[in-house]
Amino acid sequence: MSATPTPAALAATHLSDCHLCPFHCGAQRLHAQGVCRVGAVSYVASEMLHFGEEEVLRPAHAIFFSGCTARCSFCTAARFAFRPTYGIPVTAELLAERILRRQAEGARAVCFIGGDPAPHIPLILATLERLGARRTLPAVLNSNFYLTATALDLLARAIDIYLPDLKFGPATGPQSCGEAIGGMPDYWAVVTGCIERVVAQGRRVIVRHLLMPGHFDCCTAPALAWLATQPTVEVSLLTQYLAPVHTRGALAGSLASAEVERARQLAAELKLELVR
Ligand code: SF4
Repeated sequence: MSATPTPAALAATHLSDCHLCPFHCGAQRLHAQGVCRVGAVSYVASEMLHFGEEEVLRPAHAIFFSGCTARCSFCTAARFAFRPTYGIPVTAELLAERILRRQAEGARAVCFIGGDPAPHIPLILATLERLGARRTLPAVLNSNFYLTATALDLLARAIDIYLPDLKFGPATGPQSCGEAIGGMPDYWAVVTGCIERVVAQGRRVIVRHLLMPGHFDCCTAPALAWLATQPTVEVSLLTQYLAPVHTRGALAGSLASAEVERARQLAAELKLELVR
């Protein structure tokens, strides 16, 4: 009788037939021609002990993978998010060694970030499997959460804390901001569905909402209202919006202090538990 394949072994099948995000590129991945253009090898743009994450995770061992499933027009990480071979190619063995080193240096969590970590789930799971009980810090997935149920099921036993982004609101016209600005069709249904799925798994979930100039009514207000319906979810309001020079339209501006105050006030009215 053959043994049941591990989540890492199952995830590895997506290197040749990828269904880790709703683009369902399939075999295109073999030729690095899926939407994210990430091939079978993962590249890491940088990794470090990072003091910019939420207080409960600080300092985190932040691992920034190259490549992303989204195309946000205001991306500040475009240098590596849109260049999947930026940085150094890594194996599970290399990454496991680096995680152990950062753990010894005092990291309180290992955070898989991008770009987006979705295309790198096979490597993440292989790394965590290799580490086994030698890893004593929680594994955190910091993602745009534009994922499939298949991806979340693969991660279910390996990830301790989820840090999803809920950036954009639901569609109010032919295209939602998630599609128009982020390049992610059906954004609202996919991302809120994925958050509900990990909430149902009983995992700790800290949802990040980035305040964007001119996007209070279409994005911030509906996102916070929806989060208020999720009593176990913690919320982190990101107020450090900074537009890169190539950004156009309202998103090229800066976030006004009045917009930040308005969001904080709404969060208080909705009785959201904000983490810092
Ligand atoms: S992770 Fe990349 S290759 Fe896989 S389905 Fe999504 S966009 Fe396509």
